Amino acid sequence: MVVESKTSGSEELLEYRARRVWGAEGWTERSSVWVRGGEVVAVGALAERPPRYRTIDLGEVALVPGQVNAHSHAFQRVMRGLAERRDPARSDDDFWTWREAMYGVALSLSAEEVEAAARLAFWEMARAGITHVGEFHYVHHRPEGAPYDDPNELAHRVIAAAQAVGIRITLLRVAYHSGDIGQVAKPRQRRFIEPDVETYLGRLAALEDRWGKTPGVSLGSAPHSIRAVDRSWVEAISEFCAARQMVIHTHVCEQPAEIAASQRAYGMGPVEALHAWVGLNPSWTLVHGTHMSERELAIAAETLPTICACPTTERNLGDGFLPARELIKAGVPIALGSDSHTVIDPWEEMRLVEYHERLRAQARNVLPAYDPNGRTESAAVLWEMGTVGGARALGQGLSGRIEEGQPADFVALDLQDPTLWGASAATLLDHIVLSMSASAVRHSVVAGRLIIEDRRHVNEDALLAGARELMARRAAGDFAR
Ligand SMILES: [Zn+2]
Repeated sequence: MVVESKTSGSEELLEYRARRVWGAEGWTERSSVWVRGGEVVAVGALAERPPRYRTIDLGEVALVPGQVNAHSHAFQRVMRGLAERRDPARSDDDFWTWREAMYGVALSLSAEEVEAAARLAFWEMARAGITHVGEFHYVHHRPEGAPYDDPNELAHRVIAAAQAVGIRITLLRVAYHSGDIGQVAKPRQRRFIEPDVETYLGRLAALEDRWGKTPGVSLGSAPHSIRAVDRSWVEAISEFCAARQMVIHTHVCEQPAEIAASQRAYGMGPVEALHAWVGLNPSWTLVHGTHMSERELAIAAETLPTICACPTTERNLGDGFLPARELIKAGVPIALGSDSHTVIDPWEEMRLVEYHERLRAQARNVLPAYDPNGRTESAAVLWEMGTVGGARALGQGLSGRIEEGQPADFVALDLQDPTLWGASAATLLDHIVLSMSASAVRHSVVAGRLIIEDRRHVNEDALLAGARELMARRAAGDFAR
């Protein structure tokens, strides 16, 4: 299921110099990363500089691979700050009340604004050190619910936004049909829904025809959840994706109410149901997995889907804790996503997985105790989630190191940043994973190209013009619908 990494790199030969580089054997001092065609061809202090390489000295920075954000709903970036007050008229305030607010925002955005919101989200990701996003894209239609002339209009725009920013995107086109198990979709879900799975798959195929060979772009399928699609949809999607080597992502076990509905309808939990219907495998990514049962954890251990945790969103929505200990012990790969974008900070997502376990266990350095590879550093276990695990979820093979043959996707962390200041080579990864602010990301390179230079996007003013107008409209309070 691993597809070849596609890069949008130029053929220019580049040498990036840095104070420290996270390479195959750990940190190397005063090193260079040699890049050709968007790929790393060598790392180290070469005695003799090959001719024709242009040198870019990044200064007092630590170069590390870019982070993979495996679960994003870009338009929700616009919602930040809009659902953080209790409504005195309501006794409840939970995931489901938040969802109503989110539907209001989804209904209010024009096509241009969906693209502007995506640029804003992807720009913030690039600034924070993310070089590849898995976009779980479900707003498909016009605000009144009819498809656009091209039913993939908004998917095209979201992909174009990633290209404008310069990060890689895996567009996970969402399949959405029912409002809940066995129920017709609600009017407020009208921008998401499609009438039948043949229509859905036709649109996904058209999207692949348009973008499948474009460097930096890949496609996947995302049956939204077992609330939104039934067995016949999941079977057809699974067959389609197996034939095309596409990854499949779905939301599971985020909320107890979803599990109760699954139990009522199918006599089993969502992960059990999916496995019974099509057989899970490594091409699947299960997003959240917060409330998986013991039986479901055993299925994950057997079939090895990736579990994508979204800790900053899960804490914002009051979802619960990822069973990270159990997953690590069973060797189930974990990826990370910023999901609702309350916070876009991949370093924070990483460290929360360990910190939530510390809170659950009332102990320290918990995950290494369960690591089948016997690593003792919390940072090493977490690092894998933000790089290797995320890439696996998006069908890309990454090593989590800057080394020969890897895509030239890396970020330069400012060693003079207060949150990294004083770190030695022995503890630098611990500083980065457990203590660093995303503001330490000084430069960002994707497929060999600098997209963030000294904390600014290389085309920042033009890139964000639409987002500025959009947020001005938001400030004027024009988002309720
Ligand atoms: Zn989500």
